[in-house]
Amino acid sequence: MNAQSSAPPAQNSKVFHRQLRTGLPTAVAGQGIELIDASGKRYLDASGGAAVSCLGHGHPDVIAAMHAQIDKLAYAHTSFFTTEVAEELADLLIDSAPEGMSHVYFVSGGSEAVEAALKMARQYFVEIGQPQRKHFVARRQSYHGNTLGALAVGGNAWRREQFKPLLIDVTHVSPCYEYRDRADGETPEQYGQRLVAELSQAIDTLGGENVMAFVAETIGGATAGVLTPVPGYFKGIRELCDRHGILLILDEVMCGMGRSGTLHACEQEGVVPDLLTIAKGLGGGYQPIGAVLAQGKLVDAFRKGSGLFQHGHTYLGHAVACAAALAVQKVIIRDNLLAQVRDRGTALQGLLQARFGDHPHVGDIRGRGLFWGVELVADRSTKQWFDPARKLHARIKAEAMVEGLMVYPMSGTVDGVRGDHVLLAPPFISSEEALALVVARLGTAIDRAIGSTI
Ligand code: PLP
Repeated sequence: MNAQSSAPPAQNSKVFHRQLRTGLPTAVAGQGIELIDASGKRYLDASGGAAVSCLGHGHPDVIAAMHAQIDKLAYAHTSFFTTEVAEELADLLIDSAPEGMSHVYFVSGGSEAVEAALKMARQYFVEIGQPQRKHFVARRQSYHGNTLGALAVGGNAWRREQFKPLLIDVTHVSPCYEYRDRADGETPEQYGQRLVAELSQAIDTLGGENVMAFVAETIGGATAGVLTPVPGYFKGIRELCDRHGILLILDEVMCGMGRSGTLHACEQEGVVPDLLTIAKGLGGGYQPIGAVLAQGKLVDAFRKGSGLFQHGHTYLGHAVACAAALAVQKVIIRDNLLAQVRDRGTALQGLLQARFGDHPHVGDIRGRGLFWGVELVADRSTKQWFDPARKLHARIKAEAMVEGLMVYPMSGTVDGVRGDHVLLAPPFISSEEALALVVARLGTAIDRAIGSTI
């Protein structure tokens, strides 16, 4: 059965969809690691949507917790009340947070988490009498969300281009992109220190006393296809930030909450950020929820200063969203799913290597835990990308859907315009057999897509 068979024509829909020319299949149910469309076709959700559905779909414990919360209390505005469920979730998140984190600011998604973190950084420096600090430094090829502040710190050229006149001025430095940027004869550690030196230079140009924060995804996600940091890179960044009194904001909206094999990806780097954004895997898609974890020294400055964070949204700390996230996190702990992520991640790595390790059009396979990127190239020896006009990423996505497979391909891997990759982020509950099926279907989709582009 063809994936497009259940898709109503785009012109019949009144929904302002992302794509206005093509129809979409209608999702009607989700069971475990599968989504089911209106025609009954099943899709293996090997990307968790966009690295969201860590427990898969229809998890009975999460659904029961949401029902119970709805029966008790769906919503209470946070300027009038706190709720038991928000307090319990904050306790659980702080108990397992990186050292020194004292409070959680709940929002409704990743972009809101990044916006809140940017504004926390600014207000912190106002509170402590350093209002001259007004610059953010971030990385090219990063993705931090689509609201204006998050888009401004984000470094994806294509996403920023038409909105540039609306964006605050942010300095961007190189991503940590070992496959393309580590020089011949350079060790991974030397490469990392070269990047730290580049950041140091950018800070010196702005004046260290004028910079608020360096913002980075601990593991680069959507726009560059799972860029894992080289050893020592983030330690160097942390030391540099400390030398200048600059905050380190790590964005783990995609790579966090267990996706990389540890609860927070920064644990594997041996660094503690000042602000940590989380979202997707926090609520696993059962409700829209994100959060900023904040260091005690920041919260103290707010408390001693103005006594408030001058920010807020109507749905902060929504009770049903908190109940869903609390249930998701309790299941992860109860079922020891972080160990399972590491275990299945090793299996997935092996399967990807076996299928694509010698593939003439796969240049790099990279990732951690159940978070993997496969970078496509026209020529392995030169790392030359496919002509962007061929839209290889879109063809792979379409072919995968025909095969009954959801993956998250993207273009612009190299520089925001050129290059293609496929991102995989299967649910933590995936069996090895399911992962083998994912890789087999992906192989078929990639080969068909490349066959039709050459
Ligand atoms: N930050 C990162 C690292 C992300 O990957 C994303 C989404 O993909 C966001 C922020 C934005 O999150 P949302 O789409 O929930 O606003």
